[in-house]
Amino acid sequence: MELDQHRRPRRTKIIFTIGPATDSEEILERLMSEFFVDICRINMAHADHEYVRTVVRRIRSIGDRIGRQIAIMMDVKGPEIRTGDVEAPIQLQPGEIFDFTIKPAGQGDSGEEVRSVDVNYANLVNDVEVGSVVLVDNGLIRLEVLEKNNARIRCKVIIPGDLASRRHINLPGVKVNLPSLTDKDKRDTQVGIEEGIDIFALSFVRESEDLRILRKYLDENGAPGAGITAKIEDQEAISNLYEIIQLCDGLMVARGDLGIECPFEQLPIIQRKAVKACITLGKPVIIATHMLESMIHNPMPTRAEVSDVANAVLEEADCVMLSGETTIGSYPIQCVDTLNKIARNIDLHGQKAGFAANLALTTDKARIQHSAVVMSNELNAIAIICFTRSGSMARGVSALRPRTSPIFAFSNSPETVKQLRIHHGVTPFQMIFCTEPEATVGRAMDHLKQRGYLKTGDKVVVVSDILASDRVIDSVQLRTVD
Ligand code: PEP
Repeated sequence: MELDQHRRPRRTKIIFTIGPATDSEEILERLMSEFFVDICRINMAHADHEYVRTVVRRIRSIGDRIGRQIAIMMDVKGPEIRTGDVEAPIQLQPGEIFDFTIKPAGQGDSGEEVRSVDVNYANLVNDVEVGSVVLVDNGLIRLEVLEKNNARIRCKVIIPGDLASRRHINLPGVKVNLPSLTDKDKRDTQVGIEEGIDIFALSFVRESEDLRILRKYLDENGAPGAGITAKIEDQEAISNLYEIIQLCDGLMVARGDLGIECPFEQLPIIQRKAVKACITLGKPVIIATHMLESMIHNPMPTRAEVSDVANAVLEEADCVMLSGETTIGSYPIQCVDTLNKIARNIDLHGQKAGFAANLALTTDKARIQHSAVVMSNELNAIAIICFTRSGSMARGVSALRPRTSPIFAFSNSPETVKQLRIHHGVTPFQMIFCTEPEATVGRAMDHLKQRGYLKTGDKVVVVSDILASDRVIDSVQLRTVD
């Protein structure tokens, strides 16, 4: 049962990335049923196809057992450059000469003993210039390009570190000529489609065309209903922010790469700009990476992390996301619990940024949703209840960020229920709709009473179809629970 002590579910949604720390039946069940995680992210930088199939089926079977399905997001890597496998981490030394090889790694082609690693992108030699900076492993290792030929890029180590397998390479300010959806992404997406993935997150989205390519691929391969989240990770994405937001179903502020590709002091400004733009355009926004990084090794967050999470909740971002904290961390449950506590406390006592006040109401449906939110704010309604086949009614109400009322969304589509998990303040339920709208409302009220969300005498705002002179029309009603 999705009960909670205050009868108000947490409004900020939690995405956790699955990995060895969380992929067991036992931990998944606790995360889904005790801590109410909303979305599980599978990072295709690390997951193989067998792993995807295993964990998706495990999550679905737990969801069936506990009566609560979450959304599953497949994060495809897009034009991402990675180093190849190494037998053991290479301990780079300051000033060391080191090669990135296009051919299999080994001895440098000049015959000298130069250590090297493969890269997964043959055109790298054409994209970088002598003097370019190459950053590896989240910017921890820094090298400078000294010379290049068809087979290798020779660099000098500026900031050393231990280079392990499949580390991510960033080239700040360099336009990489990789396609936005690579062959590996297509193979991964195909498996995702077969397993019924709800949301595909595309890494390194640079312009809206990248999203069109993924949408076409999903449409042509049997997944027209899957959501697309655009991960913004570099300067080009920031320049094209508005066109990207308009075309995606959600935006992820991927602060790990953004903080490498852009000057890190710009990051808070970029985050604020992206959140404001998404809320103003009615699209969900996710704040990702390093939210509770220290909790990979410690059971308690740093004070700075608490403030960072609180900031995302105050901005009214739809979701906060955990990465290493839940893939390889020692305290995955404590991390989710920490997000829960911060989000709930800010919901009760924080003064929100209020960006939704700038949302333009362009359709009659949007004006009806707005009336429902104004009514619930004025009357301090215990909840807004809405009925939605495609999810659009609930998405519209969520976009307006009701001040305190949770949004209980009922849909007859299991896909819609999962897709709605990404939206701020929405608690979705699946329910068979009756032919008579009034009977559907009654059934929903009973459902919420049984789960302890409503009690007799509560005032609620209901956004629903009603029958008026044989015609079905949208309505906003104030009701008192029987
Ligand atoms: C990030 O860079 O913040 C991010 C979420 O990307 P990745 O998929 O590499 O974790």
